[in-house]
Amino acid sequence: MTIYQNLIAGEWIGSDATKNINPSDTNEVVGLYADGSAEDTKNAIAAAKAAFPAWSRSGIWERHVILKKAGDEIMARKDELGALLAREEGKTLPEAIGETIRASQIFEFFAGEVLRLAGETIPSARPNIGVEITRDPLGVIGIITPWNFPIAIPAWKIAPALCYGNTIVFKPAELVPACSWAIVDILHRAGLPKGVLNLVMGKGSVVGQAMLDSPDVAGITFTGSTGTGKRVAAASLEHNRKFQLEMGGKNPMVVLDDADLNVAVEAAANSGFFSTGQRCTASSRLIVTEGIHDKFVAALTAKLETLVVDNAMKSGTHIGPVVDEKQLKTDTDYIEIGKKEGAKLAFGGELLKRDTPGFYLQPTLFTEATNQMRISREEIFGPVVSVIRVKDYEEALATANDTPFGLSSGIATTSLKHATHFKRNAEAGMVMVNLPTAGVDFHVPFGGRKGSSYGPREQGKYAAEFYTSVKTSYTLA
Ligand code: NDP
Repeated sequence: MTIYQNLIAGEWIGSDATKNINPSDTNEVVGLYADGSAEDTKNAIAAAKAAFPAWSRSGIWERHVILKKAGDEIMARKDELGALLAREEGKTLPEAIGETIRASQIFEFFAGEVLRLAGETIPSARPNIGVEITRDPLGVIGIITPWNFPIAIPAWKIAPALCYGNTIVFKPAELVPACSWAIVDILHRAGLPKGVLNLVMGKGSVVGQAMLDSPDVAGITFTGSTGTGKRVAAASLEHNRKFQLEMGGKNPMVVLDDADLNVAVEAAANSGFFSTGQRCTASSRLIVTEGIHDKFVAALTAKLETLVVDNAMKSGTHIGPVVDEKQLKTDTDYIEIGKKEGAKLAFGGELLKRDTPGFYLQPTLFTEATNQMRISREEIFGPVVSVIRVKDYEEALATANDTPFGLSSGIATTSLKHATHFKRNAEAGMVMVNLPTAGVDFHVPFGGRKGSSYGPREQGKYAAEFYTSVKTSYTLA
C-alpha cells in the first residue's frame, strides 16, 4: 500500500506510517499515513522559517492564483474528497460533501480577500507628520487541528495564514490525516513555493509538542480539547508567542412555550445528533420551559426513532458511527454516569450492530436532567443530549449561561422580545434563533467565550486579527 508522506521543504518524505481506519467498517484501511518525528517537525519549522522572507513579500496576485486554484480543485473534487472524509471520520456522505464544499468556499473567500489587503493613512496629531497603519504577517504559524472537521478546520486556518503572508507547519489529528494530506497536495501542486506549507502528520505528543517547544514558531492556531488547549497556552506564553484556541462546548438550546414545535424539534435533532454529536457547536443541553416540555420530548423522541444509524457511505444514513473506540467508550461511560446521576434515559443508549463492523451508537436522550449533573456540565462529544426542565424564560437564560463554556447558544421562540433579549444576554460567541446551534457560514467570525475560546475570532475578515501584527509608522514630511 502507498504511504502518504509528509511534505517538508517541498519534498515528500517519511517511511514510518500509521493506518487510517474507517470507523464505519473497521476492516477497511483508508490509507497509510506518515508518522512524523520531532526531528521532522524541527526540519519543517526550519523550512517554513527560511521560506518566510520571500513569501511574506510575494505579490498578492501570486497568492490569489494559488488560493483560487486550491478552492477550484477542492470544489471540482467535492464528491471524491467528501467520500474520503466520510470514510476516515464517519460523518455521512452528504455532510462530508457539504464540509468539502465549505473548505472550497473558504479558499475562494481568502483568494478574494488577498486582493483587498489595505492599510490606513491618517493625519498625525502633530504637524508635518504622516501616519500609516499596516499589517505584517507573523512569521511561521503552527496549525494544530482536531479530528471532527478534517477538511474544513484545516482550510479555515491554512487559507488565511497564506493570504496574509505567513508560512506554515501543519499537524492534523492523527485519526484523520487523509483530507489534510489531500489539501496540502492540492496547494503544493497549485504552485506554493518550497517550505511555505509543510505537513507533519504524527502524534500530538511528538509532532504537536515539538511545535509548542520551538522558539521559531511565531503563532499557534489550535482547535481541539480544553486540556490540550491549556498546554498550547502555557507553552506559548513561555515563548511570548501569539496563540489562538478553539476548544470545547456544552451548548444550550432553549425551547420556550411559544416555540414552533416543528422548528424546535428539527433544530434540536440536527444540532444534538447529526455528525454523531461530534461538533463543538452541538446542542448537548436542551433547556425547555414547562408548558411545552412534554410535547417537545414526545416529538423529539418520535423524531429520533426515524433516524437511521449506519455506515456513513450508505444512502439513507442520518447518523454515522462514533469516530473511534476511545470516543465510543467516553460516550458509553457518560451514559452510565447519567443513569447513576438520576437522569431518565428517554431514548437510545445502546450500541448497534450493522452489516459492517463499526462504532455504532444510538442517539441518546436523557430527560429530567439538572444543569448540575456531569452529563450537563462536561463535554461528551457524542450523540448524548440532556433535557433540562425550567419554569420560564428567565430561568432558561440563567441555566443556558450557567456553564464554563461559551461557544454557541440557541433559542426556539416566536417571541421577538425573548429572541432579542436572548441575543443580547447569551454568554456565547455565536447565537442562533430558531436554528440549530451548529451550522455556520464560512465568511463571518467563528469562535466563543469563557472556556471555549481564547484569542481573536477565526474566519471571514476577522481572521486578520490573529494572522497579522499591526504596525504604526510615522514619517516626517
Ligand atoms: P485533542 O485536544 O485531543 O487534539 C487536538 C489536536 O491536538 C490533535 O491534532 C492532537 O494530536 C493535538 N495534540 C495532542 N496532544 C498535543 C500536545 N501535547 N501538543 C500539541 N498538540 C497536541 O482534541 P480532539 O482531536 O480529540 O478533538 C476534539 C475536541 O476538539 C473536542 O473537545 C471539541 O470540542 C474540540 N473542538 C473544538 C472546536 C471549536 O472550534 N471550538 C471545533 C472542533 C473541535 P493527535 O490527534 O495526534 O493526538
